[in-house]
Amino acid sequence: MADDTTILMDVGWNTKRKHPSPLLENMKHLGVSVSELNMIFISHPHVDHLGGMKEQKTRTFSLSQGPVSIPAIPVYAPVEISGSRWNPGFSAKVITAPTVLKEGIASIGPIPRALFLMGYTLEQSLAINVEGKGIVLIIGCGHQTIERIIERAQAIFDEPIYGIIGGLHYPVNGGRIMVGPLNIQKIVGSDNPPWRSINEADVGHAIEAIKRASPTIVGLSAHDSSDWAIDQFRKKLAGKYVEVRVGEKITI
Ligand SMILES: [Zn+2]
Ligand SMILES: [Zn+2]
Repeated sequence: MADDTTILMDVGWNTKRKHPSPLLENMKHLGVSVSELNMIFISHPHVDHLGGMKEQKTRTFSLSQGPVSIPAIPVYAPVEISGSRWNPGFSAKVITAPTVLKEGIASIGPIPRALFLMGYTLEQSLAINVEGKGIVLIIGCGHQTIERIIERAQAIFDEPIYGIIGGLHYPVNGGRIMVGPLNIQKIVGSDNPPWRSINEADVGHAIEAIKRASPTIVGLSAHDSSDWAIDQFRKKLAGKYVEVRVGEKITI
């Protein structure tokens, strides 16, 4: 939420294809109704950001697996995406470069990455200019890498980076998608081949890059990072670190 603007960033992964979806249930708990939304911002076209596998395949998005009445609001995505049969009538405005979406709210523009298995992926992050503080970056999966997100933000904004919050894809020493002993997340979200998966040194470099940008607030989402990686951020960015949890508000 930025002043009077409520933004839905990504729609999650409704794995059991429920209606109402976990997203709608969570919004209800938070007291946010779909009718209050002013903007939908899709970071990138992966299964867990569009509503499901079917949505990824058909380049659509679903808030739930049943009809949901969404007001006529803009949808921004780095590629062509439209509303699924449950949300017809929506087609995303494709963001191809850093773009101001509304006063104080911007996309830093898509940054490409060729991911092993998932292929060429364009991802955009949201930037909110908080008056008197600086830019707060809100990141989906972070496939772009935090180093390149920071570099882009510093190139396009005059204001300092005040906050870095979201997923950064560090499934190191554990992951959220395990198939037996195999840590699938380590392979799918990286441009490294599986024999050189994301490792502890990568997490160290990310933390150093964040320190150089010297934000005031940093929060790493458990979405695509392990508990180990979160703990590294918590310890090495002590004083700046905020916990990112479902249902918990972070007030800037
Ligand atoms: Zn992703
Ligand atoms: Zn993701």
